Amino acid sequence: MESHQRKIMRISDQLRLRDSNEPLILMKKAVSHQVPKADGRKDLYQKLDVSDLDEIIDIDVEKRICTAEPGATFEKVVESTLAYGLVPLVVPELRTITIGGAVSGGSIESMSYRFGGFHDSCLEYEVLTAKGDIIVCSPEGDESLLFNMMHWSFGTLGIITLIKFRLIPAKPYVKVTYEKYRSLEEYNRAIWSHYLSRDIDFMDGIIHSPEEYVLSCGNFTDDAPYTHRYDWMRIYYLSTASRREDYLKTSDYFFRYNKGVTNVRPKSFAGRLLFGRLVSSDITLRMAHRFVKVLPEKAIPITVDTFIPFSKMGEFMKWYEKNINHFPLWCVPYKVAHKYEWLSDEFAEGVKDELFLDIAIYGMYRENPEIWHRLIEEELMDIGAIKTLISSNHYSEEEFWSIFNKENYETIKRRMDPDNILRDIYKKTCFKSQD
Ligand SMILES: Cc1cc2nc3c(=O)[nH]c(=O)nc-3n(C[C@H](O)[C@H](O)[C@H](O)COP(=O)(O)OP(=O)(O)OC[C@H]3O[C@@H](n4cnc5c(N)ncnc54)[C@H](O)[C@@H]3O)c2cc1C
Repeated sequence: MESHQRKIMRISDQLRLRDSNEPLILMKKAVSHQVPKADGRKDLYQKLDVSDLDEIIDIDVEKRICTAEPGATFEKVVESTLAYGLVPLVVPELRTITIGGAVSGGSIESMSYRFGGFHDSCLEYEVLTAKGDIIVCSPEGDESLLFNMMHWSFGTLGIITLIKFRLIPAKPYVKVTYEKYRSLEEYNRAIWSHYLSRDIDFMDGIIHSPEEYVLSCGNFTDDAPYTHRYDWMRIYYLSTASRREDYLKTSDYFFRYNKGVTNVRPKSFAGRLLFGRLVSSDITLRMAHRFVKVLPEKAIPITVDTFIPFSKMGEFMKWYEKNINHFPLWCVPYKVAHKYEWLSDEFAEGVKDELFLDIAIYGMYRENPEIWHRLIEEELMDIGAIKTLISSNHYSEEEFWSIFNKENYETIKRRMDPDNILRDIYKKTCFKSQD
């Protein structure tokens, strides 16, 4: 904790002594899981070096609470907590997603049907204002609005420097059973039934095609007759179609999609044999961020991460098959743990569902990607659905603030970043050239 205090004082001093209001971006150690933008301006902005904020500070085994710096990756967190038989309530599937990025950008996974997002398991944040003041906030009390607005703020409301989050007991292995369905109606019935009964530890799935729906139901277990890893020749999402059940070591289960969710490369047998072990989503993203300016636009796959109200899933999929028709899709049921303060009243009033399905499109290659992004955006607005802001966004300002809560955002922005050096969330995420 002493060394943490020293790091914070260094960063706070840098912010306090800054005499410019030019935009500032965070420089962290792990790769960013934002889809790189060819016309982005990241390289031009001043950097605030927070790369040493990546330590696990404390694991309170009795209270089941972990305290860690925001740059700690989930791989590091799981390795440290699993040593005590504990894991975070929500572990996003890519090894190098950081806990700070998971709060600010929003992360989900197969325990989300019980717990919501990673941020819903957080108990406290230490946050630096753009002027270098330190504030500690939690879900209750005077600073609750600040705490709740940090989620999905994409780094525009302050810099998270410490996170306290809950842990739950884990076992050494996970047994996954693959339930196969031929229609969306059957699939939805099965999801709803597991959601109500909470009879499994983990639930996600792959929609391989409009006739092939797989629900992957996982449970912690003490023993395993065999185990599989999906880090070389085997491709996890494909295995869900061919297998009836599987056993994975717990950390291999958490990061089973680390080679890409449904966009695993290389695809060929020879390619996987030669490079399959080396290539991971981390490396692919690093290369994409480095070379995005020289890559042709169509070389960057379309990535869209949608949240569909459960009651609208039938309507959405009918539209999707007719207009987009790209499969497979990753499906992660997500419980809305409470009415999120960053959503506008108008949006929240229109959606009564407590369960959403995160339907994620990866690896879709199309000419004129912007047209496809906008088409999906328009459909989502029509049915009261949203998407994470991790890729290409084309909302008008009016549309954006009909989904997001402008009043709450501005209340916190005025206090945390009055000179707008961390940038405005609309401009940062929706202006083509801003990030
Ligand atoms: C190809 C791809 C695959 C993905 N797969 C998954 C998946 O399997 N499961 C899943 O849950 N999610 C997935 N995501 C989404 C991912 O969880 C989010 O993009 C998340 O925000 C990434 O976190 P990061 O650590 O990479 O943070 P970054 O991408 O570096 O940052 C995300 C945002 O948070 C801000 N930020 C980062 N650190 C801080 C801080 N300390 N304080 C304040 N703001 C900060 C940044 O400025 C940025 O705006 C995927 C995204 C992509 C592009």
